[in-house]
Amino acid sequence: MKLLNYIDGEMTEPASREYIDNYDPSTGQVYSHIPDSDERDVEAAVAAAEAAFPAWSDTSADVRSAILLRLAALIERDLEKLALAESIDQGKPVSLARAVDIPRAVANFRFYATAAMHLANESHESVGQAAINYTLRQPVGVVGCISPWNLPLYLFTWKIAPAIAAGCTVVAKPSEVTPVTAFELSKLSIEAGLPAGVLNIVHGTGPKVGSAIVAHKNVKAISFTGGTATGEAIARTAAPMFKKLSLELGGKNPNIIFADCNYDEMLATTIRSSFSNQGEICLCGSRIFVERPIYQKFKRDFSERVNALQVGDPLEPATDVGAIVSRPHFDKIMSYIELARQEGGHVLAGGQLVRPDGRCSGGWFIRPTIIEGLPFDCRTNQEEIFGPVVTIMPFDTEEEVLRYANSVRYGLSATVWTESLSRAHHFAAELESGIVWINCWLLRDLRTPFGGVKDSGVGREGGFEALRFFTEEKNVCIKY
Ligand code: NDP
Repeated sequence: MKLLNYIDGEMTEPASREYIDNYDPSTGQVYSHIPDSDERDVEAAVAAAEAAFPAWSDTSADVRSAILLRLAALIERDLEKLALAESIDQGKPVSLARAVDIPRAVANFRFYATAAMHLANESHESVGQAAINYTLRQPVGVVGCISPWNLPLYLFTWKIAPAIAAGCTVVAKPSEVTPVTAFELSKLSIEAGLPAGVLNIVHGTGPKVGSAIVAHKNVKAISFTGGTATGEAIARTAAPMFKKLSLELGGKNPNIIFADCNYDEMLATTIRSSFSNQGEICLCGSRIFVERPIYQKFKRDFSERVNALQVGDPLEPATDVGAIVSRPHFDKIMSYIELARQEGGHVLAGGQLVRPDGRCSGGWFIRPTIIEGLPFDCRTNQEEIFGPVVTIMPFDTEEEVLRYANSVRYGLSATVWTESLSRAHHFAAELESGIVWINCWLLRDLRTPFGGVKDSGVGREGGFEALRFFTEEKNVCIKY
C-alpha cells in the first residue's frame, strides 16, 4: 500500500518522490509506504489553504456544518474498515478501535459541525458613554494541526474538526508512525464535498514536515498534541512569530485510591486506566497510590487481574492488550523496566516481552507490568514511560499523597477514588492537573475544557474553547 498526500483537493505524490516504510507493529513487518514529504509539499499545502481561505471563511456556518456532518456520516459508514486500519497501523486491539477511536472521530465532527452553529459574539453596552461595543470573532486563517500516534484518527480529527468548523483552512500532519487513517480521511473528505484546499494533509517526519508547518510564516496558529520535548521545540519556533499555540503534551498521572472507595468499581476501572491501548494514552494513571489499609489486598487483586489480561494479536476479539506502536518505543519502555529494577523496584507482574505464536511472533508486545517498592521521586516515577507499566505505592495521609501526586513536572490528569465528598472536593482543588476524575476515568463530555498545566501544555481543547482558539477577537466600539 502506498499512501499519498492530500493537497488542494487532490491525492498527490511527495515532491521528493521518496517514501518511508510503515510497519505493522503486531508483526514487525513493513506493510505500507508513506510520502517522505518536505518543505516543498508544505509550501504547496499552505498555498492551497491560503487560496481556499477567503471562500471558506465566508461560507455560512450551516453550510460548513452540513459538509462536516456528511464527513461524520462517511466515517461512520466505514467504521469497520477504519477500525481495522487503525488496529493494524497502531497495534491497538481492533475491539478498542471499533468501540472508541473511530466512534470518537465521528463524534468530533458531529460535535463541531453543530457547535459552530451556536458560536455567538459578545456585545458590551458602555452605559453613560453612549457607546456600544461588539466583538467580532473571525477565523485566524491557515492553521497547522500536528498529532501523535497513540489515538491517530481520534486526536487528528479533534483538531481538524474545530479548525474547519471555525472557518479556518488547515495544513495537517499525522504521525509518520500511524498515517493510514489520515490517508483514508483524505479520500472521505473528497467524497464529502469538502472544497479543495480547506483541508490539506501532508505525510512525513516531524523534523521535515512538522517543523516546516510550524516555521511557515503564513500559518497563523499551531494546534499540537505530542511529547513535551517536541512541544518545547515548537514553542521556540512559533513564539517569536507570535503564533497562537495550543500544546497538549505529556503526562505522568496519579491514580489515588482511598480505603473508603467503591472497591470493585475502582479495581475494574484501574485495569483500564493503567493498560488501555497498551498504556499509550496520555491520560493513563501510571502512578497508583493506595491507602495503606487496603494496599495488600489491592496489590493481590490487581496483580491477579493484570496477569489474566490477554496480550497478543490485536485482530483477535479476545485480546486486551495489543502491540507497542514501534520498535523504538518498545525499546524505550523495556529500558524503563530495566531502570525500575536498577532503582530497586520489584516487578509484581509482567516486566518482560511477549512472543505470541503464529503471525504475530515478530511483533512488539510487552506484558502489562506492575512495579512496587520505588520512592515517589525516582526517575521511574517522575518520567513519562507511555506504555503498559505502572507503579504502586502505599500512603498514610492526605498531605503525603498530595505531595507525591504533585511532585512531577507534568499536570495533565488525576484520578481520585473515595466516597468522601469533602475529600473529593479538597483533592479536586489541590491537585496540580488540568483534569480531575473522581470515581471514574476517561469519562468524557466534549463540551468540557481539555488540557494540562505545568509541562503538560498550554491552552485548552474541547467545547467552545477550541472554536475560540481558531478565531481571533476584534472589538468594535460605536458611539451613538
Ligand atoms: P511526538 O512529540 O514525538 O510527535 C507528535 C507529532 O509531532 C508527530 O506527528 C511528530 O511527527 C511531530 N513532530 C515531531 N517532531 C516535530 C517537530 N520538530 N516539529 C513539529 N512536529 C514534530 O509525540 P509522539 O507521537 O511520540 O506521541 C506521544 C506523546 O504524545 C506522549 O508524550 C504523550 O503524552 C503525548 N500525548 C499527549 C496528549 C494530550 O492530550 N496531552 C494526548 C496524546 C498523546 P513524527 O511522528 O513524524 O515524528
